[in-house]
Amino acid sequence: MNKPAGPAQGAAGILREIRINPVVPAESVLVATARGMRPRKDELPAPHDARPHLDTCPFCRGNEGMTPPPIARIPEEGEWKLRIVENKYPVLGDDTENPDFGFGLQQAIDGYGRHEVVIDHASHGIRIHEMDEEHLALLFLTYRQRMEELYHSDDRLQYVLVFKNFGPAAGASIAHSHSQIIAMPVVPDNVQAEVRNSQAYYQTACKCIFCSLIDEALTFEATLYDRTSGEMRRTISVGQFVIERSERFIAIKPFASRFEWEVHVLPLFHSADYLDLSPVDAAGLSTLFRRTMARLNAVLGGVQYNFFIHSLPHGAAYSAGVPSFHWHIEICPRTSIPTGFELGSGLFVNTISPEDAAERLRNADVGE
Ligand SMILES: [Zn+2]
Ligand SMILES: [Zn+2]
Ligand SMILES: [Zn+2]
Repeated sequence: MNKPAGPAQGAAGILREIRINPVVPAESVLVATARGMRPRKDELPAPHDARPHLDTCPFCRGNEGMTPPPIARIPEEGEWKLRIVENKYPVLGDDTENPDFGFGLQQAIDGYGRHEVVIDHASHGIRIHEMDEEHLALLFLTYRQRMEELYHSDDRLQYVLVFKNFGPAAGASIAHSHSQIIAMPVVPDNVQAEVRNSQAYYQTACKCIFCSLIDEALTFEATLYDRTSGEMRRTISVGQFVIERSERFIAIKPFASRFEWEVHVLPLFHSADYLDLSPVDAAGLSTLFRRTMARLNAVLGGVQYNFFIHSLPHGAAYSAGVPSFHWHIEICPRTSIPTGFELGSGLFVNTISPEDAAERLRNADVGE
């Protein structure tokens, strides 16, 4: 495996460089492996409660009366494998009391929307990488189903965001594995930026930028030479960013990773809309996803994370993005909290080189 070497990396093996996110340049990253860039406590992995059932947990089987009434349960008869309920504390809702308003520069949009919780599994302590793949495929198809139903339920809903918080460091208030779906009256800025920028790339390159990134990851190797001395500065084997690949999906460590252990999962085939996920592909996705999560869990000794799905928004204004946008899942393990430098500069700071992180993830033993 080629290690980056050269001026950017000092004698002590310290890497300091600003890496530009190819899709959203505003989300660029300072990769600074020097100690002290981020004063960190030794992060203890969150204690994991593996018990299958807890009498006090509203998401455990048998405690269904503790949640708001279900929107759906799967399967409809017999013991449920997944349940979907309204969020007890919705961040968006059917809010007719607070219509759009504005005064001067202060503008607000009505907080209309839907906020649902998917109880991922009946077992209390199970983690994603411990679920069987058939169950995970069901979860991915359930996301798809709810997204579709929400998009069709109300024209005011502009974007349906599926995400998951796992572990207190990732903002999960209930330990039992669950995901959330928020249907919003606006398309989030970061999704808009991805759509806009990938469209601009498409107009010049006639190719989807995400497909191009995948192609680079699978084929590209480059050697950089010093312009004056002719000495080799570093070799970049972009293949070193691949964490997992299967016939139809790939997990990549982004070159400009915002978070130390961030990994993105994409279909190898071009597809803009997560709603086009077929049952066969959901099965393929679940295999690759489970293995990726097992790698993160093995390397981090218990992983707290957020993940979310970015898919082409459904409004008519976005239909031009079909050839240029490519749906993906961003997995963001949470090992640190943002510092003042990050908030003040808007630059993410990553203190582990993405190449090293990728190598450790690839080398993790997760069985076959
Ligand atoms: Zn539970
Ligand atoms: Zn593509
Ligand atoms: Zn994205």
